[in-house]
Amino acid sequence: MRVAMLSVHSSPLARLGSKEAGGMNVYVRELARELGQRGILVDIFTRSQERDAPTIVPLSRGVRLINLHAGPAAPYDKYQLLTYLPEFVSRVRCFADGEDVSYDLIHSHYWLSGKVALALRRVWQAPVVHMFHTLGAMKNRVARSAEEVETIHRIAIERRLLHEVDAVVAATPLDRAQMVWHYGADPGRIRVIPCGVDLQRFQPGDRNAARTALGIADDAIMVVCVGRMEPLKGMDALIRATARLIDHHPEWRDRLQVVLVGGEDETQTAQWNSEQRRLDHLRQLLGVRSQVRFVGTQPQERLPHYYVAADVVAAPSHYESFGLAALEALACGAVVVASNVGGLALTIEDRRSGLLFPPDNDAALAAHIERILTDEDLAARLRSAAAQRAAEYSWPTITRRIIALYEDVKTANAAFWSARRLVRVS
Ligand code: UDP
Repeated sequence: MRVAMLSVHSSPLARLGSKEAGGMNVYVRELARELGQRGILVDIFTRSQERDAPTIVPLSRGVRLINLHAGPAAPYDKYQLLTYLPEFVSRVRCFADGEDVSYDLIHSHYWLSGKVALALRRVWQAPVVHMFHTLGAMKNRVARSAEEVETIHRIAIERRLLHEVDAVVAATPLDRAQMVWHYGADPGRIRVIPCGVDLQRFQPGDRNAARTALGIADDAIMVVCVGRMEPLKGMDALIRATARLIDHHPEWRDRLQVVLVGGEDETQTAQWNSEQRRLDHLRQLLGVRSQVRFVGTQPQERLPHYYVAADVVAAPSHYESFGLAALEALACGAVVVASNVGGLALTIEDRRSGLLFPPDNDAALAAHIERILTDEDLAARLRSAAAQRAAEYSWPTITRRIIALYEDVKTANAAFWSARRLVRVS
């Protein structure tokens, strides 16, 4: 089988934790790798943001990244990409013709790629499996400023995709319910298959060694949060919770370190986006500037050090369709305190494999962190259940389910086209 994977607006090789690169990029890269290992050929099509990036980049066995130009060869706003999608479609077609390859299936990621997938389906007669990763309607529900609001154009494209693609992958039953509720989608078209986690990379390790690698003192109280600097990641609640913790425990003032992974580090102030500037302002206002530290994006291979070294990993998002970072933390045996939303609320079983709190409630977040820091038995119980929980999400398990979906969709598509030919002949 040969699959055209579409990740148009963001490359699987983009710097993770920056504005447009996170869980989706990891998902595309990891799923493609697993498919390749099982003999499925995968070409991942993305928009090249650099003038002289090579067109074909081999990524892993059977997997190639295909960099194609659409509009200026530079970063630009995702909405601007809408104008250039027809150009992208033509370039994908030219590439496939030039290589003399045809694709059995298109797997698109995010609404922009979905639009490209529908155009290619008409030409190739190949079925489309789509994954949204985030839904515009859900983002709008938690948006706090005009800047965060997604347009009705996006919502309309998402609605169209839900009605037209052959199958949609939802990361959780809740994700599916949201598609049905907000877009009137047919649940029969949506299959729930969670995201996977690389259990080789993310596994429990030696806490002291991890702290040494990060230069963190043994007696520090370390809280870690991994995420892009975006308001919906809810890092402001963690900063407010930090101020509460110090209020309740002044003796923790010199030991507490709240490490925010993502965005830019302390020295790159000129590169900070508006959210990071807002968080900086908040930490100063609340007098916790020396406790809350920006370490910038980290290569994924360094993240296990952070998860293993942490006393608590916080995931305070307002919305999370899945929440890969929290799953990676569980896989490392971390104590995760997450907001009770989206995928987080389903991956983490409250008081068994982590603790959940109502989103944006810094008092509840602080109370949970305090409990973990003062109740060693509870922390130990949560740690051992966490790693067990994550083991359910291994990539081989998830990939088998994706391949089963591909097979079903391919069979239905072949039946559709042969019925159509029969009708034409008669
Ligand atoms: N990530 C990373 N380095 C960073 C920040 C994030 O490698 O500095 C990775 C992290 O390991 C995870 C992904 O980016 O796999 C974030 O996924 P998540 O679902 O948590 O959030 P999203 O960015 O999709 O909203």
